[in-house]
Amino acid sequence: MTRKKPGLNTICTHVGELKDEQFKGAVSPLYMSTSYAFEDVETKRYPRYFNTPNQKALAQKMAALEHGEAALIFGSGMAAVSTSLLAFLKQGDHVVLQKTLYGGTSNLVTEEFEKFGIAFSFTQNLSIEAFEKEIRENTKVIYIETPSNPLLTITDLEAIANLCRKKGLVSMIDNTFASPVNQTPLDFGIDVTIHSATKYMGGHSDILAGTVIASEEKINKIFQLAKNLGGSLSDYTVWLLERSIKTMGIRVRAQSENAQKLAEFLEQHELVKTVYYPGLSSHKDHELAKKQMKGFGGMLSFELKELDASTFMKNLKLIKPSMSLAGVESTILSPTKTSHALLSPEERQEQGISDNLMRFSVGIEETEDLIADIEQALEETRKDMLDIRL
Ligand SMILES: *Cc1c(COP(=O)(O)O)cnc(C)c1O
Repeated sequence: MTRKKPGLNTICTHVGELKDEQFKGAVSPLYMSTSYAFEDVETKRYPRYFNTPNQKALAQKMAALEHGEAALIFGSGMAAVSTSLLAFLKQGDHVVLQKTLYGGTSNLVTEEFEKFGIAFSFTQNLSIEAFEKEIRENTKVIYIETPSNPLLTITDLEAIANLCRKKGLVSMIDNTFASPVNQTPLDFGIDVTIHSATKYMGGHSDILAGTVIASEEKINKIFQLAKNLGGSLSDYTVWLLERSIKTMGIRVRAQSENAQKLAEFLEQHELVKTVYYPGLSSHKDHELAKKQMKGFGGMLSFELKELDASTFMKNLKLIKPSMSLAGVESTILSPTKTSHALLSPEERQEQGISDNLMRFSVGIEETEDLIADIEQALEETRKDMLDIRL
C-alpha cells in the first residue's frame, strides 16, 4: 500500500533530494556556482536570490517537515527571525511578543526596532488574555516561542492562531526548541514557523543556519525583503545541513526519550529541588504540551537543593558546559551567567530564573551513562560543600 504523504524519517532522508544524473551517486550533488547562464530577469539564478539548486531542494525538505507550502534557508537563525519580522512590519506598526524569548530576539527588538519606528510590547505572561491585552490598533504581528527558554513553558498554539485570525494579524513562532520532529505549528493555524537550524536541524554543533516556513504567499513577501537584506546561506553549508537533517528524526526522538528519563530521574532525587520539563506530569503546562506536541523535546532545566550549581557543573565529566544547545552531545549551562546574563537580577527573578538554575541540553548518549555522571557530580559536590563547612 502506498501512503499519500511520506512520514517524518522519509521526509528527512528523501524529500528535496537532487538527483546525480551524471554519475548516479547516492547523495545530492553540490552545486557551488555563484554564476549561472542568464536566461531572463525573472528566473536569474544567484545564491542571494535563494534559488540555487541546493537551496531550493533543501527549502522543499523544510516545507515538507513543517507541513508548509514553501520555505527559505538563511545564514543564521537570527537572519530568519529578523527578516521574517521586518517583512511584516513597517514604520508606525506594532508587534506583540511573548514575555520569555530567545535573548538574540529580545535584543533585536529592544535594540533595533525603535530606529525603524516599529513599536513593540512584551506580554505580562503566556495566557491568551495577556496577548489580547497588548493588541493595539496598529498591531500587525504576534510572535511566540514554545517551549520557551529556559523554563520550558508552553504557549497555546491554537489559541494564538485563532486570536490572530480574528484580529487579522500574522502569527509567528520560533519553533527551534521543539523542532519539527516534536511540533508542527502550521497544523494549528500558525502562519509563519522559524528555526535556528543551528540547533536540532544541524544537530552536530558545526553549522550556523536558519529557516522560515509558511504559505507561498507569505514566503514570497519574506523573500522580497530577504534578497535585499542578503542573509542567504552558502551552498556548501546548505549541503551539509541537508546531510544533517537525514538523521534529525532519529536523533531528536532519542534526545526526547533521554530527556524524559533524565527528568524523571532528577525529579525523584533527594538533592534536586525542581525540574522543568513539559513531559513531566508535574509541569504546569503538561496537558497543553500533550495536546500540541508529539514529543516533549531534548531540553530541560533544574535546580539543586542547597548545593552550588557552578560546583556541580564543574564536577560533571561527560556532560560538558556549552553556550549552545541541541547537539548529539549533552551540554549544560547556567542561564544567569550566559543566555540571561544581561538581564538585571530583578528581571531574572521575575522570569523565574534563579541563580542556581541549570539548563540541560540532552544528547544521544546512553541514559545510564548520563545518570551515572550526574550521580557522581552530585556526590562530589556534596563532599566539596561538607569540606567547606568543616
Ligand atoms: C539559537 C537560537 C536562535 C538564534 O539562532 P542563530 O542560529 O544562533 O542565529 C533563535 N531562537 C532560538 C530559540 C535559539 O535557540
